[in-house]
Amino acid sequence: MYTLRPYQQDAVDATLNHFRKSDAAAVIVLPTGAGKSLVIAELTRLARRRILVLAHVRELVEQNHAKYTALGMDGGIFSAGLGRRDNEHQVTFASVQSLARNLDSFDDQFSLLIIDECHRVSDDENSQYQQIIAHLKERNPGLKVLGLTATPYRLGYGWIYQYHHRGMVRAEEERLFQHCIYELPLPFMIKQGYLTEPKLIDAAIAHYDFSSLQPSDSGSYNETELNSLIAKHPRVTRAICEQIMEFGGQREGVMIFAATVRHAQEIIGYLPKDESALIIGDTESDERERLIQAFKQKQIRYLVNVAVLTTGFDAPHVDMIAILRPTASVSLFQQIVGRGLRLSPGKTDCLIIDYASSGFDLFHPEVGKPRPDSNSEPVQVFCPGCGHANIFWGKTDAEGQVIEHFGRRCQGLLEMEGETPQQCDYRFRFKECPHCGAENDIAARNCHQCGEAVVDPDDLLKRALQLKDALVIRCAGVSFSNTNGRLRIIYHDEQGEELSESFDLTHNGQRGVFNRLFGRRFGDGAKPQKFQSADEVVSQSEGFRAPDFVIARKVGRGQNSHWRVRERLFDYEGKYRKANQL
Ligand SMILES: [Zn+2]
Ligand SMILES: [Zn+2]
Repeated sequence: MYTLRPYQQDAVDATLNHFRKSDAAAVIVLPTGAGKSLVIAELTRLARRRILVLAHVRELVEQNHAKYTALGMDGGIFSAGLGRRDNEHQVTFASVQSLARNLDSFDDQFSLLIIDECHRVSDDENSQYQQIIAHLKERNPGLKVLGLTATPYRLGYGWIYQYHHRGMVRAEEERLFQHCIYELPLPFMIKQGYLTEPKLIDAAIAHYDFSSLQPSDSGSYNETELNSLIAKHPRVTRAICEQIMEFGGQREGVMIFAATVRHAQEIIGYLPKDESALIIGDTESDERERLIQAFKQKQIRYLVNVAVLTTGFDAPHVDMIAILRPTASVSLFQQIVGRGLRLSPGKTDCLIIDYASSGFDLFHPEVGKPRPDSNSEPVQVFCPGCGHANIFWGKTDAEGQVIEHFGRRCQGLLEMEGETPQQCDYRFRFKECPHCGAENDIAARNCHQCGEAVVDPDDLLKRALQLKDALVIRCAGVSFSNTNGRLRIIYHDEQGEELSESFDLTHNGQRGVFNRLFGRRFGDGAKPQKFQSADEVVSQSEGFRAPDFVIARKVGRGQNSHWRVRERLFDYEGKYRKANQL
């Protein structure tokens, strides 16, 4: 018999509360090692009606079933891999593949569908998950769906749910899962002693520099590019393996995450033969099972893998993780490290060495967008509109102050009594509608307020570049000065060419234009201000953002002709190269 930990009980209570009020699908986020299967077991134990528990691999089906049985309950298993096809029990633990191929076996009404590792569910209605959900909903339109995961975010897709219970909007698009009703952060688990303390070591000896490689939208790297980069530095891998053995000699179980199959084979060549094994995607399942068992029984010390042991693999004795592959998201980094954080008798810490210098901090929150570049880190930016503390990618100075951030719209969820909750409409970056003045997302094609087409900056640039009497500057920086009481702005391009314009800030109209263009965007939109004088602007000039392009037209004739600035394009995202970009 198990007793639930307090947070597991909280997760159970949150689920009961939610489904008492609503049929909307919900997600529980628990870090690896938090004991998801016990939460599932308790929920299924409390239920009176029929329940299905789905998992994508048979190990998880088995684990979840075992925890349920340990509560003294009798549940069915439906999994070809486990050789069982029970469909009569009140609670059935099924593998997705087996169930999707035998939907006819489940023609009764189910009240609850629980999906383990639910970040795997895709929007594709032909996917096995969606087929199962559609089938069950046909029998019972009031079917409730609960997902559990450690990583509610996928690169290339974004957040898998829409609203977080702490008042945040995550995905702005519709999702199968509407609400995250409970989330437990990794640092809490470690602090409370539910997970092992990670001991991060800086690998000074040698490391890979994968920063020149661009991951795809879904976060994967090109294998050929990886191989050629690794092959360029033959001594690096050898030196790393020597260090792994030096530390690993005093460790119980060492997991090594390689970048490619060829890379993994090179690594295994440097490790002691009788103490090492390699598991890749092509490893036969019997062989994989045999190797994993040998590793768990500590007959093997070093287990090298290529992208296969990031989820669902449970070997609590692992006390060293060596990362020799690039990781494109905080979630994936946490998943990898999570393999070593389970509690185990005699284990006091887990050594983590990131030879790929991904720069991710284990305790960083997930930002929900791909990292713009390797110097970026999650920063907290308060909304001037609603006060919500947003987490965006950004940059900080030596004192930790935010000097730049890449957020677009506030993620605060405004809940008014008796109204449907709405996302705060404050925008840190925006495109102003030329027709009604409303602020739109920088990628918007039509104004959200008046519906008119919002000017496409690429069209503006293309047109201007075709005109003889127009000048386009790729703006690298902007400087301000007080010239006889007027504010003079100079836009500089990379080659030293410049354009300038002046504003009389004592004049109401001109002051308004300047503040809409520059004051509103002060501090990356996090500190909008209405500036009253040229001196005030000059004294705070480092807080202004420069436009990416400035377009001017020639006015006057002959000797009197000069350039007059017509457009300043801020936050440009399009096909033309910006300043300081390659
Ligand atoms: Zn806000
Ligand atoms: Zn408009």
